[in-house]
Order: sequence, then structure tokens, then C-alpha cells
Amino acid sequence: MNRIAIIGAGIAGLALAGELKDRAEVVVFEKSHGFGGRMATRQADPYQFDHGAQFFTAKSEQFNRFLEPYIEQGQVVRWDADFVEIESDRIVSARCWADGPAHYVCTPRMNALAKQMASGIDVRLATRVACIEATAAGWRLYDQAGLSLGDYDWIVSAIPAAQAAALLPADFNASNEIGLKQMLGCYSLMLGFEQKLALDWQAAFVSGADISWISNDSSKPGRPDRYTLLVHSTNRWADTNIDLDDDSVTAYLQQELARVIGLDVSSAEHVALHRWRYANIGRQQGEDFFLDCDQRLGATGDWCIHGRIESAYLSAWRLALRLQREL
Ligand SMILES: Cc1cc2nc3c(=O)[nH]c(=O)nc-3n(C[C@H](O)[C@H](O)[C@H](O)COP(=O)(O)OP(=O)(O)OC[C@H]3O[C@@H](n4cnc5c(N)ncnc54)[C@H](O)[C@@H]3O)c2cc1C
Repeated sequence: MNRIAIIGAGIAGLALAGELKDRAEVVVFEKSHGFGGRMATRQADPYQFDHGAQFFTAKSEQFNRFLEPYIEQGQVVRWDADFVEIESDRIVSARCWADGPAHYVCTPRMNALAKQMASGIDVRLATRVACIEATAAGWRLYDQAGLSLGDYDWIVSAIPAAQAAALLPADFNASNEIGLKQMLGCYSLMLGFEQKLALDWQAAFVSGADISWISNDSSKPGRPDRYTLLVHSTNRWADTNIDLDDDSVTAYLQQELARVIGLDVSSAEHVALHRWRYANIGRQQGEDFFLDCDQRLGATGDWCIHGRIESAYLSAWRLALRLQREL
């Protein structure tokens, strides 16, 4: 049986592993202590925040089919939020998501789906792949301490494009193309309150400001009661200020939030910030995945298609179909 190493236990890496695990010996390496990558959740008792992906839609038949069992078991549910669009500091439209296509979230937290997907798969958490070396028979991976992580016939990266370009061997036939993919940054501001705020909506897209998204994160189904707001900066503001210190970013985003919603948010009992250097990417043209069958190297992830959970899944699923023909 072929041995395949997959780097990254986000939705793409886990979806790929799930499709290949009966056809090959698959090992997934993940540098974090948990699954899910940018489908991320932070616990800050008594608060909880989904500080990466907020919700997802399912447009393709394949992704809907994949979600079916999780929906049946209640692990993926609709979030029927009261939704508004805000221009600068003015609500310009309002609707309830119950009246349209599903906006899904995982319960009881966003990273729960990845944990389910990982069951039955050999995932080595807290293991960063730092180096890949060619051997006479294939590839050998090393961690940060220079320790061998084993020998493999195939290696597939399921990590953000810039990190993949830096890690994958230069003779991968897609190296140049992957290196050109420009992912965008984002800051997540997490605020926890003892008292609810007087907002009569739960989710907002914002334009004409340096923040792009506000949600009452605790209003998602299955979340702890304590009231939380989750705010995303625009990609543009994050990229311009990506090296600014955390305190300055936090203070600025709090001030911008207060201006946009017209409420004082200084009563927040819990305040935290997360910097995403590679958060998102606009819609891409071209390949849905990269595969070099001569070198036995591949790359997948949302960045091949669009910075969305569904795109990450589809990139991996399509790569799995192609790779299965080689095994
Ligand atoms: C702030 C933010 C908001 C978003 N909002 C939405 C949204 O509302 N809706 C939506 O559909 N999508 C949203 N997205 C995008 C969505 O999260 C991604 O499209 C999706 O999660 C990407 O999955 P992935 O598996 O391709 O990559 P990732 O989730 O990035 O997974 C890659 C994994 O690889 C690991 N890794 C990296 N390098 C190494 C290494 N050297 N060795 C081992 N492991 C490594 C990382 O720790 C990570 O777990 C958002 C993303 C962010 C950051």
C-alpha cells in the first residue's frame, strides 16, 4: 500500500484523508493541538468564540452530500440569524436568514466538525512539518527539532499557499503557481460581556469601515449563554497593519466597532485578539488542486478556489478523485 503524508488537519486535509484512508496508509500532520485550522474556536471560560470562519453555505451537490450525515446528527445546523448590512454606521438592509438558503454552523463550536472528520484517521497533533527531503524511495519528513517523521510515497500539502510554497520541494511542478497565490490577512476581535448589548440583530456585513463583520457569536445554536461579539477587520486594514502591536490593534478595532454600532463597548469583561496572516483569498481561476504525479507531490486548500469552507472541501475531494487513480 502507498504511504501518504498529508500536512494540515483543516477541512481540506481531513476531507482528503477521509477519501483516501481505505486505499492507502494515510498520516496527517498538524502543527496545532487541535483539528480544524481556520474553522477555529477559542474557549475563554465562561466565553467561547468562533474566531475564524463564521458560518458556511453549501452550493454544490457534493458538499451538500458530504454534510448530510452531520446535519442528520445535529452536528451541523442552520444559523437563522437576524442579519443586517451596515454602511459605515447606518443599517441599510435587514433580513432574517431563516427566509433563505441555509447559513450553517457546527455545534457546539465551529471546530467540532473537524473533530468528527478526524475520527478513524491517524492524525499527529502538535507536529509541525518543518522540512521535506527526497530519498531514494520517496520522501522523508522532519519536524522542527530535525527528527524524522517517517518515509512516504506521496506528500500532499493542505496548508495555506504561502506556507505550502515555502515547504514543498522546489521541483514540484506547481511551485511557481502556488507561490503567486496572494492570501489576505484579517484580525479577529473577541469581546465577552456580563450584560447583553442592545443590538436587535445577530450578524452584520459592514462596508465603509475598517471592520467587515460583526456577530453576536453566542447567538449561534448550542453556544454557552454568556454574551459575545466577534468582529473581523477588513482584509485591507489587516494587511496594512499586520505588524502593529496587539494593544494598538485591539484599541482601534474597539473604537471602530463602537462607531459602527453606536454603542459603548468598553464594558467588555473579556477582550482578546487573533491575527490571521493568511485568512482568505478571492475567487481563483484555474486548477482546483495541484498534483505532480512524477514527483508524487500535491497541494490542496481553499486558496485553490476561493477562501471558503466549501472550496476547501471541494479542492480536497477533487484531488482525492484524481489521486485515487494513481494508487
Ligand atoms: C477570520 C476568518 C473568517 C472566515 N470566515 C469564513 C466564513 O464565514 N465562511 C467560510 O466559508 N469560510 C470562512 N473563512 C475561510 C475558511 O476558514 C477556510 O476557507 C477553510 O477553513 C480553509 O480550510 P483549509 O483546510 O484549506 O486550511 P486551514 O483551515 O488553514 O488548515 C490548514 C492546517 O494546516 C496546519 N499547518 C500549517 N502549516 C503546517 C505545518 N508546517 N505542519 C503541520 N501543520 C501545518 C494549520 O495549523 C491548519 O490547521 C474564514 C477564515 C478566516 C481566517
